[in-house]
Amino acid sequence: MDRVFDPADHLPDEMLERIRDRAADVDRENVFPTQDLAELAEAGYLRMLVPADRGGAGLSLAEAACLQQRLAAAAPATALAVNMHLVWTAVAKILRDRGDDAFAFLQHGAAAGEVYAFGISEPGNDLVLFGSDTDARPTDDGGVSFTGTKIFTSLAPVWTSLGLHGLDTTDPDRPTLVFAFMERVPAVVTHDDWDTLGMRGTQSRTTELHGAVAPVERVVRRVPLGGPPDPLQVAIFTAFEILVASVYTGISQRALEIASGAVARRTSKKSGAPRSDDPLVRARIGDMVISYDSLTLQLAALTRDVDERADHGARWFALLSGMKHRAVTSAQHIVDAAAIAAGGQSYRAGHELARLTRDVRAGVFHPSSPDSARQTAASSWLDSL
Ligand SMILES: Cc1cc2nc3c(=O)[nH]c(=O)nc-3n(C[C@H](O)[C@H](O)[C@H](O)COP(=O)(O)OP(=O)(O)OC[C@H]3O[C@@H](n4cnc5c(N)ncnc54)[C@H](O)[C@@H]3O)c2cc1C
Repeated sequence: MDRVFDPADHLPDEMLERIRDRAADVDRENVFPTQDLAELAEAGYLRMLVPADRGGAGLSLAEAACLQQRLAAAAPATALAVNMHLVWTAVAKILRDRGDDAFAFLQHGAAAGEVYAFGISEPGNDLVLFGSDTDARPTDDGGVSFTGTKIFTSLAPVWTSLGLHGLDTTDPDRPTLVFAFMERVPAVVTHDDWDTLGMRGTQSRTTELHGAVAPVERVVRRVPLGGPPDPLQVAIFTAFEILVASVYTGISQRALEIASGAVARRTSKKSGAPRSDDPLVRARIGDMVISYDSLTLQLAALTRDVDERADHGARWFALLSGMKHRAVTSAQHIVDAAAIAAGGQSYRAGHELARLTRDVRAGVFHPSSPDSARQTAASSWLDSL
């Protein structure tokens, strides 16, 4: 019998309400949402993408994207933080679905309660996955010692395993990117430096690596610098763009809910009718809905294509980064329109829309940046002419 997917089985309404209720305090206090993570872990959320034969829920990427939208609609920062762990579990799934089981250890780890952080971003590294200023030096026993600085490491106070990359230049003629995982060893120093406009609960602090060693069994891939993308890099890119787009689509959904509720509750003195009867208000909400629906439909289609191993060839990069870009820019427009619809109350610092207005601004900083997405899109058409 086909498995029936009910989002409430994985994110029950009551748990979601508790997470929503805590989001304002998490933001105001600038703390990690520890209770949210504990509840999510207890409910099996962190192993949703782990196959059933390895102790997880065996969900598809399409289903995970739905759940992340639902979680982000309640607490964007919690969803974005959890996203980083889910990216690695999605990578494991994408690779295994294509016959590469190099991340079996990670699936078993996620099932056993590990929390995986995503240590990719570095100061000034606009090559992102395809370059690194972190020194990756082989150790005598086959491990790799990492020295460098990773920025914006979400889940900073709570992660138990850090997935990262660095550059091995031992052979100067053949520089190699190394991808690996490491525990929170003393040579990993986490700064307490997260104080941002929005997404405050992610606690994406700076991580310094002072010769921190990943053991041989956790060195997952070596990729020659400047060569064609390795399937691991493609899998990370795929998982990252889809899950980030899901978070910002969830923000859009919540902004629409708040705006719709506000205009339905308020009455115009001019007409005596609810504001939701005003044709201008309806047009604004209509635009928001049209924009939001395009996001959910695109996400459903692209995640299904990944799940079903559709072949978009070289177009994958443009499709994925384009979707992330649309999700983020549409979310900004929708949140702005929601604030106009909801009125001046939404300008109060404690109002949920005010928080969403700040949270949504983070979207443009995640790869692919707007410039990078547009370049990839343009190349996918122009460079084949
Ligand atoms: C809420 C949030 C959560 C995130 N979580 C993660 C995560 O978990 N894992 C992850 O890998 N990434 C994460 N990111 C990082 C994100 O993907 C970007 O890499 C990050 O926003 C940096 O973007 P930027 O390069 O445009 O920043 P920039 O402003 O260009 O740079 C950021 C820092 O690097 C310094 N810098 C910039 N250029 C140079 C240079 N040439 N030389 C030296 N220093 C320089 C800047 O002074 C600044 O301190 C997160 C981002 C956000 C907003």
